[in-house]
Amino acid sequence: MMFQESGQPSSFPQQTLSASFTCNGVGLHTGHPVTVQVAPSPVGSGYTFIRTDLPDFPRISVGVNQVAQTLLSTRLASGNVTIQTVEHLLAALIGMGIDNASIEVNSDELPLLDGSAQEWVRGITEVGSQIQNGTRPLVWLEESISLQQGDAIVAAFPADETRFTYGIDFDSQVIGNQWYSWSPGQQLGDNPVGFAQEIAPARTFGLAEQIDGLRAKGLIKGGTLDNALVCNYTNWINPPLRFTNEPVRHKLLDLIGDLSLLGIPPIAHYFAYKANHGLHVQFAKLLSDNSHRQPLRAV
Ligand SMILES: [Zn+2]
Repeated sequence: MMFQESGQPSSFPQQTLSASFTCNGVGLHTGHPVTVQVAPSPVGSGYTFIRTDLPDFPRISVGVNQVAQTLLSTRLASGNVTIQTVEHLLAALIGMGIDNASIEVNSDELPLLDGSAQEWVRGITEVGSQIQNGTRPLVWLEESISLQQGDAIVAAFPADETRFTYGIDFDSQVIGNQWYSWSPGQQLGDNPVGFAQEIAPARTFGLAEQIDGLRAKGLIKGGTLDNALVCNYTNWINPPLRFTNEPVRHKLLDLIGDLSLLGIPPIAHYFAYKANHGLHVQFAKLLSDNSHRQPLRAV
């Protein structure tokens, strides 16, 4: 048995937002302007995207089976309807303890904003959260589980409280080898202040020469020095950094966003090394496949 659910009734209520907030920006890949409204949603509903630019306002419920592509960012789909670059908003919602939210968006891509989850956290903090009439299940991982692709690894180990440990190793003197470990407390969502201070401000990053290559392919049209940390092999092009290890903290943010496809992931120590969105999402699917007897989100 992979998971163990507590015999005690959970005392953790589900939460949604107290009111809606709106955020404007530009899609990283398309370069198109986009407006997003994040709104309260009923208990047990999870996260739902609503494409208000399309006829009949089609909806995409967030889940591991909705992942359509993981090149550079995470894209969800329901039939022909897609929404891209969802990971930073989803990380902000789950990190801030918001279980249920509906997200209206008038484009096929969320704005990158400053490349971190800070703007989303600011919006969530400004409207605040409200407790709902339903509980979060407490689910512990019972056996370790891992996924490997070359030298990239994502794994989870049984633990009393949730922890995330991430390592990266880049062929650039300024990024190099970085490790970071962070715990939100027992469950993801239990420490919104810590998430807002330690994880949410970390921006996405890249090597200047890779960015030139992506531009040449017609990708990242909305990318500027305002929405990513950019370096060459010896220097940061747009300092200052918000943390000396900002890159690895951003990878941890991406992992949290991709694991949020499960709702609140089981209590475990999550470990990743040199992974990417593709491997994060494959790992979330593996966890989901192993938990079919124990729904991760109960009302
Ligand atoms: Zn990211």
